[in-house]
Amino acid sequence: TDNLSDADPDLYASLRQELGRQQEQIELIASENIVSKAVLEAQGSVLTNKYAEGYSGKRYYGGCEYVDIAETLAIERAKKLFGCEYANVQPHSGAQANQAVFLALLQPGDTFMGMDLAAGGHLTHGAPANQSGKWFKVVSYGVTRDTNLIDYDDVEAKAREHKPKLIIAGGSAYPRQIDFARFRRIADEIGAYLMVDMAHYAGLVAAGVYPSPLPHAHVVTTTTHKTLRGPRGGMILSNDVDLGKKFNSAVFPGLQGGPLMHVIAAKAVAFGEALRPEFKTYAANVVANAKVLAERLIAGGLDIVSGGTDSHIVLVDLRPKKLTGKAAEHALESAGMTCNKNGVPFDPEKPFVTSGVRLGTPAATTRGFGTAEFAQVGDMIVEVLDALAVSNGDNAAAEDRVRARVQELCRRFPIYPTL
Ligand code: PLP
Repeated sequence: TDNLSDADPDLYASLRQELGRQQEQIELIASENIVSKAVLEAQGSVLTNKYAEGYSGKRYYGGCEYVDIAETLAIERAKKLFGCEYANVQPHSGAQANQAVFLALLQPGDTFMGMDLAAGGHLTHGAPANQSGKWFKVVSYGVTRDTNLIDYDDVEAKAREHKPKLIIAGGSAYPRQIDFARFRRIADEIGAYLMVDMAHYAGLVAAGVYPSPLPHAHVVTTTTHKTLRGPRGGMILSNDVDLGKKFNSAVFPGLQGGPLMHVIAAKAVAFGEALRPEFKTYAANVVANAKVLAERLIAGGLDIVSGGTDSHIVLVDLRPKKLTGKAAEHALESAGMTCNKNGVPFDPEKPFVTSGVRLGTPAATTRGFGTAEFAQVGDMIVEVLDALAVSNGDNAAAEDRVRARVQELCRRFPIYPTL
């Protein structure tokens, strides 16, 4: 037999351990989700064997007739899901999708605007360590100190002053709705392109519970693995098919070689799932659950950046309990709840320490948690953090106590029972 368990027991053991971890922990990382068995099956399929450089009907390799079907299904479903005219499903990741837009629309040395990493933007939106920050002139905007909402007046003033060729809206830790129409007005005034990176919100947009950027943006990029609940990957969308031709050339041959056809097949499966009515219910639950989680954390004495959420993200400011994100992430993981430390706007701590944690509801909502369960999650988080705040390091008892309750909840909402 050439089953993985026999062929490579060491590697197989790590997969079983990861499966166990996912089954027994509550996943609160806002950018993660739990894909269906159908998505897993497509991604683990023979399509991994196929080279298919080029696009459907215009490939540089023979034998592409069946992978063409998969890619065409992915494209047509993506266009239907987001109500747009153009989709490229080949970017290997969200970062690559963004890079392809830069390659298509900018020259090295050009100026673009993006949200500051410290305010909730993504690395690829101009962080100094990223290629986007190294090869372009970056003008960053942020949020206001009093509301922690995007400072649109600042965006407007900076756009008028610096005349960027491209403005990016979207981010990784911004819990509120974004006024895409206002961004477009600002872009139009100075003749800039508007790119929206909806990586975090894509599933919510598909389901109509978060505003769609597509009527406003020249181009929309996204990942497919967050709220959209597909395989790890990226995608570019637009209503401008002429710009679309430029994005196609930028993805291949501009940046990438052969597309990952097994991942593209899995994207098609996930988009098909997202087109079903159940996905609308799922996405609505994701947001309802996040609101309940935020309320419970506020009731427990924590601050929530911007006072709440319109999405799946709850950005917790730990300073009322005098805790760091680093310590909180560690304690919550010991208690069976996975999340990530995250800077809060105007954070006095270093990025590796931070004053916050970012929480998200997509994964646990997939396993069936509703508002009652998320109220419990909120209370358990407060219990762990309160113990951490007063214990001087001796908070293991609280973490053990909570971990037992976490495991009980996870057993009530099992995932991948037949894997
Ligand atoms: N854009 C945003 C807003 C993101 O949050 C992320 C991922 O965290 C990315 C892009 C990059 O996606 P990937 O990790 O697939 O490269």
